[in-house]
Amino acid sequence: MSIPGPVGELPLWEAVMNTAAYTCQCTGQCGRSHTKTGKRCDREHGALAAVHGGRILLLAAPADPAAMTQPVHRLVTLSASALAAWCPACHDGARSRAAKQQRATTPPPPDTDALFAL
Ligand SMILES: [Zn+2]
Ligand SMILES: [Zn+2]
Repeated sequence: MSIPGPVGELPLWEAVMNTAAYTCQCTGQCGRSHTKTGKRCDREHGALAAVHGGRILLLAAPADPAAMTQPVHRLVTLSASALAAWCPACHDGARSRAAKQQRATTPPPPDTDALFAL
């Protein structure tokens, strides 16, 4: 198997994938229960995607979905141990759920930001 991962992230990406055995590590954070596959998503890197006919490319993203909403420059400071393997569908689901939760629990930012933006 020699399916390349995302360009430019290889060493960290590879470390995460090795730990995850090149399998999505979602256990329901995306909002799907994955009951058919032992409550864990079983999508493997390089497997054929059922819908598009393309191949599934796993992402290395924060294991904690709440951290996925951080800006990219914060994300790149995370170490492999804080990351997990996600298939694109689970990553999107988990991130949007986390973003929704944060909007529900954090007060809106103060208006001063808007002044500086003008
Ligand atoms: Zn998945
Ligand atoms: Zn999932």
